[in-house]
Amino acid sequence: MSGRRREEVNAITPSIAELTAAERDRILAKTALFNPPPITTADGRRELVGLSREELAAEMAAMGEKPFRAKQLWHWIYHQGETDFARMTSIAGPMRAKLAERFVVSRPEAATVQTSRDETRKFLFRFRDGQQVETVYIPDPEEDRGAVCISTQVGCTLSCKFCHTGTQKLVRNLGAAEIVGQFMAARDSYGEWPSPKDDKPRLLSTIVVMGMGEPLYNYENTAQALKIIMDHEGIGLSRRRITLSTSGVVPMMDRCGEELGVNLAVSLHAVTDELRNEIVPLNRKYPIEELMAACRRYPGASNARRITFEYVMLRGVNDSEAEARELVRLLRGLPAKVNLIPFNPWPGSPYQTSTHEQTARFAAILNEAGYSSPIRRPRGRDILAACGQLKTESERATRA
Ligand code: SF4
Repeated sequence: MSGRRREEVNAITPSIAELTAAERDRILAKTALFNPPPITTADGRRELVGLSREELAAEMAAMGEKPFRAKQLWHWIYHQGETDFARMTSIAGPMRAKLAERFVVSRPEAATVQTSRDETRKFLFRFRDGQQVETVYIPDPEEDRGAVCISTQVGCTLSCKFCHTGTQKLVRNLGAAEIVGQFMAARDSYGEWPSPKDDKPRLLSTIVVMGMGEPLYNYENTAQALKIIMDHEGIGLSRRRITLSTSGVVPMMDRCGEELGVNLAVSLHAVTDELRNEIVPLNRKYPIEELMAACRRYPGASNARRITFEYVMLRGVNDSEAEARELVRLLRGLPAKVNLIPFNPWPGSPYQTSTHEQTARFAAILNEAGYSSPIRRPRGRDILAACGQLKTESERATRA
């Protein structure tokens, strides 16, 4: 092609950046179709949890209050964990009454709480419109700390074949209040208020956005919730303690890294497009090569902050030694670690978990190539442990 012709073609062919931006707009427009209901109570009071600092300041300004009032409220809501205006003692009595007339500070209702023999605690939270999601606290068996796994959608569109939540259709996205609310309600359950400051030990020390739903298909609400959780004057959990897991919504990954800077986990589960198309159908849209390129671009990834690749071990499906070697090839040059997850069967699931020996062989190949690849210990086996199972059981009981 002549230089002139190439320039003409370049002028009319959209660049990758333009294509990504267009695709991102399309995803955000589609996301809006599943927006959560407004955050008001039946008697018309507005929920304050989930508002950004700016939105909270605007609410106070609308009441004729100065910005410091929003700062005070922020402290009570997110540092002290207070839900009752009457106990917000640094605010004068008449003002507390005025606030209580117009607003609420609430939590999702815990419809079910199950604590496993290994101390894993699973919550089924119910929101104002009756929709329910699961949240899990997984304590560290050796130290006083643990991870809270939170959900971002009611159901999921993605139908990953090994995932129980994938069998539930997407009902709606969660709002920021509902996402932050899961973490706050889990902390209520352990009495961990006020928020421990700086590097003081925390029982609920990390968040994994890995529960029901695909967070990058509910990006705006998830981002607003995580910004609230990271705010220094409130819960103050650093971005290094938050991991967002995606099945590979490539056009949103850059934005997530730039805006939030949280750790990234990728649900990989297969090393060829042929198999991944089947078990993670989103792969048909964003195949492995594009996904790995987005991982290489992910801002802030380094040897100190490696990208986690989740790999569920399915017997005879994705667990051969050849596949382990292919995984090593795919990861070459990436600051990565691999979490090997024994498959957690649920009634009607089409897979079995790999044998312990096969999982160990798979891990050894990754380890030899320099990739840390812990085999995740199954937790909470004596409660309904597969993600989404508690919700299904609760719905079944309600129908019965
Ligand atoms: S693994 Fe995640 S993205 Fe896939 S169906 Fe389950 S909840 Fe959805």
